[in-house]
Amino acid sequence: MPVEVGGGLFGRPTVVNNVETLMCVPHVINRGAAWFAGIGTPDCPGPKVYSVSGHVNRPGIYELPMGTTLRDLIYKHAGGVQRNQKVKAVSPGALASPLLSGDELDVHLDVFSARPHSELGAGGIIVYGEEVDIVPLVLRASTFFANESCGKCVPCREGTRWIADALQRIVDGKGRQRDIDIINDVAGNMERKTLCMLGSFAAWPVQSALRKFRPDFERYLGHAPPRKQLPVLAAE
Ligand code: SF4
Repeated sequence: MPVEVGGGLFGRPTVVNNVETLMCVPHVINRGAAWFAGIGTPDCPGPKVYSVSGHVNRPGIYELPMGTTLRDLIYKHAGGVQRNQKVKAVSPGALASPLLSGDELDVHLDVFSARPHSELGAGGIIVYGEEVDIVPLVLRASTFFANESCGKCVPCREGTRWIADALQRIVDGKGRQRDIDIINDVAGNMERKTLCMLGSFAAWPVQSALRKFRPDFERYLGHAPPRKQLPVLAAE
């Protein structure tokens, strides 16, 4: 929001910073900008707080240099994946980001390096082991966004519900190829076409899941749901 002019909240100059930014300020003042810029990457200097959850052995909050690779974060810091599973997928910006596959662990986790692959967001990294079922996972994300849509713009208001309904049909074993086509089409009409970013946040997980984990969806088509739904997250 504008700091200098009266275009912010209630027509007043407004500044919004998160805690992660503010906690860097004393260190920059005490040690200097050059010291701070020596951490991380040239384009994205400084530390980053990564919040790691999901199927890792040591979930937690890790403050590391910007640009740390996903592989180092999972295996050097978060203790690897439970029961020595391979990584199947990662949400690097929580559920509001495109899924990364287990082949993309060398992605550097800074704002710019992550962007061709996904979105870092606030650094809420969720790691999924190879046993995870991607379809209920994206259903959960889509249901959340459908519930959170404020309804102000049509692509988000209608699209989030259409996607959640189509995914529910697929998970219930009543899905057809047409449902996958609907999801792709609707998500494409939401991404970057809504008033705020929620429309894109809702589109990205399902678009990336269909691109990278298509067999997970096709396994459901025309069949009763598998008897055992594997857990999405470790806590379940
Ligand atoms: S994109 Fe934002 S403004 Fe539009 S309906 Fe969704 S939440 Fe509301």
